[in-house]
Amino acid sequence: MTNHIIDGKQIAGKVTEKVKDRVERLKAQGVTPGLAVVLVGNNPASQTYVNNKTKTCEKLGMYSVMIELEETISENALLKHVETLNNDPKIHGILVQLPLPKQIDEDRVIAAISPLKDVDGFHPESVGKMMIGQPTFLSCTPFGIMKLLEYSDVEIAGKHAVIIGRSNIVGKPMGQLLLQKDATVTYCHSKTKDLHTFTKQADILVVATGRAKMIDASYIKEGAVVIDVGINRDENNKLCGDVDFASAQEVASKITPVPGGVGPMTIAMLMENTCLSAENTLTN
Ligand code: NDP
Repeated sequence: MTNHIIDGKQIAGKVTEKVKDRVERLKAQGVTPGLAVVLVGNNPASQTYVNNKTKTCEKLGMYSVMIELEETISENALLKHVETLNNDPKIHGILVQLPLPKQIDEDRVIAAISPLKDVDGFHPESVGKMMIGQPTFLSCTPFGIMKLLEYSDVEIAGKHAVIIGRSNIVGKPMGQLLLQKDATVTYCHSKTKDLHTFTKQADILVVATGRAKMIDASYIKEGAVVIDVGINRDENNKLCGDVDFASAQEVASKITPVPGGVGPMTIAMLMENTCLSAENTLTN
């Protein structure tokens, strides 16, 4: 039974096709959307993510620069790079790949990015606007999940959405976006007692815990839509999610795989946000 698998790669392809058209229209008006990706240190996972992001930019005809910095860089030196990018008219989006080395305060770096170029949607101003439903850059992973649900014709209004995870970049914004679409939202986290009680009520279950294959069929209501955000390695070093896909797909009405589910959407939404930022320079 494969027809209930939400194909994130295919949907991301549809989203990026639309972005490509927008890029062409922008170029015809003399603006090439530009993304700067800042990578500090040599974390292999981060390197893979930033390479995928810059490659996708190039495929869509966008301008991209990758700024690679030493693991030992000081916070002030990193902040200077951010400032330069804030002032660079060729750059419409700035992304500082997380996590950052421990000598650097991530919150300070995120706050230093111009909200006009905050295509990751992590700046407190973007988060605040998202909370009150004002137009802003939405955090790419939850934004991508909303698109997955939309393209998969998943009804949200009146449904009970349960989010496992409350990080600032995934769990928290995810719940807010679902709330804005009239879901009833429950957040669960590591201190939640009797997780099953909550997850078994979910019509839409979003799992973002960073715990490989933690959620199996026993947590899932028959017919629920299951979105797996996790990116982990299993005991055989194979990529896997936070959901035990083999068991969960037996009960879920729709489910995202890992890889090929949420991951490609995160990049697609980054491209959409960068394009939007470039469009804003023409209208503002
Ligand atoms: P964090 O580690 O920041 O947050 C994990 C959350 O899960 C926390 O809120 C934590 O609770 C909760 N949690 C951990 N263990 C349990 C448990 N046993 N029961 C219930 N809740 C638990 O992770 P992120 O949100 O940044 O990422 C989550 C996963 O998604 C990771 O695997 C990450 O790699 C992946 N990811 C994937 C992306 C993509 O593009 N596909 C993008 C971003 C992340 P508490 O707050 O109490 O500690």
